[in-house]
Amino acid sequence: MAKSYYVGMELEAPCGRCKGETRHRIHTITDGTPERLICNSCGSVHKFRPERPAKPEAAPRAPRMATQAAPKPTASPSRFQELMIAEQAGAKAQPYSAAQRWDEGMWMDHPSFGLGRVQRRASRKVEVLFREGLKTLISA
Ligand SMILES: [Zn+2]
Repeated sequence: MAKSYYVGMELEAPCGRCKGETRHRIHTITDGTPERLICNSCGSVHKFRPERPAKPEAAPRAPRMATQAAPKPTASPSRFQELMIAEQAGAKAQPYSAAQRWDEGMWMDHPSFGLGRVQRRASRKVEVLFREGLKTLISA
């Protein structure tokens, strides 16, 4: 904006002493830009500050909340895959057979369900976690 200033010109400017916008007169001008202003209210002389949006000095900074790690849903498929990767199931898995004794932590290769990990053993049954979920199978 091409604003022309002259000494004695009146303008609104923030005054530190009056704590707010007050009427000022331009006291000195350097290179076409006001350098010093005189406050009409309190008479103090202070530097001219170029117009800019009034901003409170101490803008309250929104405290950054620590992004809470959302607890993973205990969905079987992801849990299954975690286990599978962690334990390199493919190398260990044995073909499922009801004649075999299955214990917790063993991996099986089931003809219908695929790779599964024995989660729990109870008498002659085992709970096996497959990609599609938990199944109960016969164990020797
Ligand atoms: Zn003032």
